Amino acid sequence: MNILDLDFPDWEDAVVRAGWKKYRGGQIFHWLHRQRIFDPAAMSNLPADIKDWLQREFEPYPGIHDPDVRKSLRDGSEKILYSLPGDSHPGGKEMEIVYLPHKTWNSVCLSTQSGCSLNCGFCASGRIPFKGNLSVAEMVFPVYDLIRKTEEKINNIVFMGMGEPFYNYENTLKAARILSRQEGAGIGVKKIAISTSGVLPAMEQFLRDKEPFALALSLHFFDHGKRRDFMDVEDKYPIAEVIRFLVQNKDYFNRRTIMLEYLHLPGINDSPEEARELGKLGQILGGRINLVPYNGETLKIKNYLLRKPSWQQSVDFQNQVKRLYKMVFIRNSAGEDIAGACGMLAGSFAKEREN
Ligand code: SAH
Repeated sequence: MNILDLDFPDWEDAVVRAGWKKYRGGQIFHWLHRQRIFDPAAMSNLPADIKDWLQREFEPYPGIHDPDVRKSLRDGSEKILYSLPGDSHPGGKEMEIVYLPHKTWNSVCLSTQSGCSLNCGFCASGRIPFKGNLSVAEMVFPVYDLIRKTEEKINNIVFMGMGEPFYNYENTLKAARILSRQEGAGIGVKKIAISTSGVLPAMEQFLRDKEPFALALSLHFFDHGKRRDFMDVEDKYPIAEVIRFLVQNKDYFNRRTIMLEYLHLPGINDSPEEARELGKLGQILGGRINLVPYNGETLKIKNYLLRKPSWQQSVDFQNQVKRLYKMVFIRNSAGEDIAGACGMLAGSFAKEREN
């Protein structure tokens, strides 16, 4: 196990099992996740035998270093690409995070898988080989690395990078919990959002476990046939069922902030009827609707032509939705010039290096 894979209670259990007092677990967690000191030798309030035990029993944190960084000249966002050594994946596996600094707050977009096991027609992450789930350590370490490098506070975490968080449920939730702990980075639970394409059984588990984090649903289409044309996940978990589930449990989800992500594909999913459906759902569910203008190249998929909407097209659609529901925003995706925007994460550094 990697030293960064364990949550606070895991450490308490581990030290007790090894014969020490419970509070030692908290001290270890504090060193790792608050102080971001990963070398047991430097954990000055621990006795030598615990330090030895840590060295002996746990894989040390690095394993991932020297990421490739590309900074956007347009908006200051940074895309950071890690090559993870993967015993299970000869040649390693790639993973990207995106740092989104703002005037008064900073946000990080994390990946949960290397590549993505979904296959959404509009998204670049599905076009590269899927190389598996990220571990807890692989999700939290890049955040600490970023804090060290920028010397900035991170206020927001969104699990909206490569991968489907709800196909890597345990690790994602554990990473979120670790990042939210007061004894660690202390990022507010409502400031941590997990996005899903609509993996219903995991959404049900999220509710059963009373997870406190914000939930985002990548809605994109109301029509079953149309959604299926773009998203394989629709075959397994039709959007109508997912919506029904959210509506039935709207009180719960609303207390935690629910976000509906709606990819804007001009001429494909922006009819007046679709604007009405979206506005109506907003009225029923509450929460926040984010319109995400399609990023990326003009592309023909089946009978559809995917292209970027003009700003005006997105504003027009937004205004139609707004007639029914006010909380609808156009999410101006940062990092487009560095292929760091939504739907553009595809390990592109490595490809460029090969060329
Ligand atoms: N698999 C999860 C997490 C990924 S979040 C999910 O689907 O929610 C990434 C978001 O970017 C998703 O809402 C995804 O649908 C959206 N996206 C994918 N391709 C995009 C593109 N080309 N332009 C804009 N947004 C895109």
